[in-house]
Amino acid sequence: MISKTLFDDGSHRWIVLARDPDRKDSVIDTNEYLIVSNGEAILLDPGGTEIFPSVLRTVAKLIDLEQLKAFFASHQDPDIMSSLPLWMGLCDEAKTFMPWIWQGFIAHFGVEYVERFIPLPDEGGAVPIGTRGRTLTAVPAHYCHASGNFSVYDPHAKILFSGDIGAALLPEDETSLFVEDFDRHVGYMRGFHQRWMPSNEAKNRWVRRVRKLDVQMLCPQHGAIFQGEQVGRFLDWFEGLEVGLDGFQAGSTLA
Ligand code: FE
Repeated sequence: MISKTLFDDGSHRWIVLARDPDRKDSVIDTNEYLIVSNGEAILLDPGGTEIFPSVLRTVAKLIDLEQLKAFFASHQDPDIMSSLPLWMGLCDEAKTFMPWIWQGFIAHFGVEYVERFIPLPDEGGAVPIGTRGRTLTAVPAHYCHASGNFSVYDPHAKILFSGDIGAALLPEDETSLFVEDFDRHVGYMRGFHQRWMPSNEAKNRWVRRVRKLDVQMLCPQHGAIFQGEQVGRFLDWFEGLEVGLDGFQAGSTLA
């Protein structure tokens, strides 16, 4: 699995974990994000059970597992968090931040870890990385696509983890971690957003919210990362897209 540093100022570092070569074709490809801040770490959307060994191997090369103080689950989908009980079993003091609405559902993956769940209210709020690390902000992204859903903003690194927003399903020959040709990339993400985002109003609320932030890098859970002026281009494109039932065509697939 590839790991690449996205930001590093010496005490605060973002690393993307992606493109697991051992992943079976039947399992959707995912990106995981590790943030190490003043020696403490959080893993955003730790991934599905199927890729847990690869993610664990990669994380263990980067940090000591005792440094992992928190996990973040943007929503309840298995591709982003079914590995959570395995992680919480390994890191027996780490907490997991998640939308409050999903805690009773996520508990079905491992009820013994519920005491370390930190439910986030609908308005979002602070996501601290341990006690010494910097604090991130959960940004509401409800109905984009899950009914309780958050993006995560890091005001220090100016990076937004956008979850399924900005996701793309890439063909095999598109191996770059970063968006290289925005116009071509639209073809890999249009169908996904039209089908998986149920509400134009919810989408536009999220766009308005994100426009108020200084975002230098927009990091989705699937596909490639948007940098610099591509962030604004993505927001413009997403704002103009008809999603949900308005853009629905029966049988339209993910890409
Ligand atoms: Fe999802």
